[in-house]
Amino acid sequence: MFQCTKSLSRVFLLLLIFKTSHGQYSPGSTFTEDDATNPSDVESRDVGTELQYKYHDHEEMTRYLRAVSARYPALTALYSIGKSVQGRDLWVMVVSASPYEHMIGKPDVKYVANIHGNEAVGREMLLHLIQYLVTSYETDSYIKWLLDNTRIHLMPSMNPDGFLISREGQCDTIHGRHNARRYDLNRNFPDFFKRNTKQPQPETEAVKEWISKIQFVLSGSLHGGALVASYPYDNTPSAIFQSYAHSPSVSPDDDVFQHLARVYSSNHDKMSRGVSCKSGSPKFDNGITNGAAWYPLTGGMQDYNYLWHGCMEITLEISCCKYPLAHELPKYWQDNKQALIKYLAEAHRGAHGFVMDEHGNPVEKASIKVKGREVTFHTTKYGEFWRILLPGTYRLEVGADGYLPQEVEFFVIDSHPTLLNVTLHSAKRIDGGGPYYRPAPRPPPPPAPGLFSTFTNSINSFVSNIFG
Ligand SMILES: [Zn+2]
Repeated sequence: MFQCTKSLSRVFLLLLIFKTSHGQYSPGSTFTEDDATNPSDVESRDVGTELQYKYHDHEEMTRYLRAVSARYPALTALYSIGKSVQGRDLWVMVVSASPYEHMIGKPDVKYVANIHGNEAVGREMLLHLIQYLVTSYETDSYIKWLLDNTRIHLMPSMNPDGFLISREGQCDTIHGRHNARRYDLNRNFPDFFKRNTKQPQPETEAVKEWISKIQFVLSGSLHGGALVASYPYDNTPSAIFQSYAHSPSVSPDDDVFQHLARVYSSNHDKMSRGVSCKSGSPKFDNGITNGAAWYPLTGGMQDYNYLWHGCMEITLEISCCKYPLAHELPKYWQDNKQALIKYLAEAHRGAHGFVMDEHGNPVEKASIKVKGREVTFHTTKYGEFWRILLPGTYRLEVGADGYLPQEVEFFVIDSHPTLLNVTLHSAKRIDGGGPYYRPAPRPPPPPAPGLFSTFTNSINSFVSNIFG
């Protein structure tokens, strides 16, 4: 769409503005660059980037992000994915040992905060997370490992216009929740279960474009007003349950989502106790809940991330008060610091690998499905895929136009990700006599729509464990 094209070109432009010495950005998060600045150079730079425990308005936040990207050019890249209704940039800071270039075979992950403009804690938490990551890289071996193996994209505010009119100290109002056209951005995404008739907003369109360009493996959406990690689905197929029953709407990856939610809540100082925020508000066992079991909603961002783009996103409600007084921010940072970091490392759990053709060329947009989990993921232009899974034995169904479907058995253990490479064989064979093509024997019909038949022949794969 027009908006999308515009926002992407804006990404190029802004990167050129802010990082002129580092080449340019191209789709798929690939920054071409001569960017091999040694991280040890970071220490020798003398510009200070102090971050206070206070709320940063849009201009202050912009200044801070620019200062960090100037001071830590080998660890950060700042870009904007588009603008809000009132023209404010939707900033994203990448923190990684490879900030400008996707690391082939290594995951991209993200946090998005302040989608509801009056839920302000997440916005400041992401600024503190940026600060913590860049200042710990040289001294903390875990952070170094994380940034060496992961590209972390952090969007402190998806709704800067709503934040502008929100007021510090207001815990329960909805003033500032919506964007400048009074749309709730977390009800503004396409919905799998119900038709979403809401007019798409610039902020939502920018996010949709962004996550269609970068294969994010894992994501967290930061909110306030409760203390719970909520996982898909947010919506439910049942109209009856839409407004009444508190029934879970269970996704095929329910075990994985529950695990991810638990990783956050158990690494948070208080969340896993499941204490209700105030009398009358719900308690959550272990500090986690299925989204629809809490309350169903249409057009949420987490279901969209999962079903449209194979990105495992959960919703993190990190403060009972939506916009607490600034002097409480140090406490919130202490509560969330470990959880924010440990959660992102979960992108390295499960299986990942490459889908290649017989000549070793990557197969883009191959469909990736774990048998029994009826959600299709897709490979990137490098043939990469990721599937966060708990320990166990699985079968992977891989298919692509022009290739014979392939099924591969693999296992996942707790301590290391499983590397799984799949070779697809062309469904067409070159005739020895000339440039003629002859179709291969037809595969038997699939047993059910959307399922590949079980092929036991020509399985060509290898499975090995690597250290993560
Ligand atoms: Zn919210």
